[in-house]
Amino acid sequence: MNKKKIRIAFNGSDDIMRLFDAHTHLDMKHYKNDLDRVIKRAQEAGVEGMVSSSIGPGSFRRTLGIVKKYSGIVFHTAGTNVSQLTRKDADEIIALARKYSNQLVAVGEVGLDYYWVKDPAGRKAQEPLFIDFIRLADELKMPIVIHSRKAEAEAAAILSREFDGKVLMHCFDGPPQVAQQVADNGWSITLPANFGKYRNRRRAAEILPIDQIMLETDGPYLSPTGERNEPANVRFGCESLAEIRHMDPEAVGEMTTRNARKFYGL
Ligand SMILES: [Zn+2]
Repeated sequence: MNKKKIRIAFNGSDDIMRLFDAHTHLDMKHYKNDLDRVIKRAQEAGVEGMVSSSIGPGSFRRTLGIVKKYSGIVFHTAGTNVSQLTRKDADEIIALARKYSNQLVAVGEVGLDYYWVKDPAGRKAQEPLFIDFIRLADELKMPIVIHSRKAEAEAAAILSREFDGKVLMHCFDGPPQVAQQVADNGWSITLPANFGKYRNRRRAAEILPIDQIMLETDGPYLSPTGERNEPANVRFGCESLAEIRHMDPEAVGEMTTRNARKFYGL
């Protein structure tokens, strides 16, 4: 691949910017027609790696192909569509993850979704599926990536009880007391490119030690620009984090890239 690093002038500096998109969904139909250009734009913006989360059996198979094509740049974590996950899909994803475990870097996104699922029985039904994926991460000796929408404290309680491995609370939006618990447990969070607009996420960006924070886009969702989101946009999150932590964007890019590589074992 193109080894040339792109220089970007942040605050008038011409230091080399390093960035890493620690959570995105490159197999989605939104990228179907121009994935090559999306990856190229990311690299031109300094993004040296992307972790793409699959969310079902079909998505898993598509992501295998993408990772093969963009080897060393795109990495695969085996996840679920948490709010719509069925027993059947969970079993199929678990079987695929075992079969292709040498092509994965993590298990997830998995977890609890109380935003889309409001009835207590439906919420309760997510727990045994979540626990099966926690066991899978344990069995495969992989880190786990957590989706915990409106259920951060509940997901943290289950993880504290059931898992001793590395934990990433993706797109973290929990209140400060849960952010503190995540920090104390030595777990990590990712902040999306538009996180500067969200109070809980800004607070989490202050509370977590910098070596427990990574950047993500969750593309094609959560766009900071109003257009389709894509990995090149992690730079927006980098700028927000730099401002909140009173650091240079280059230093934030360097730290968060290092954190992502360490977390995923790259
Ligand atoms: Zn996601």
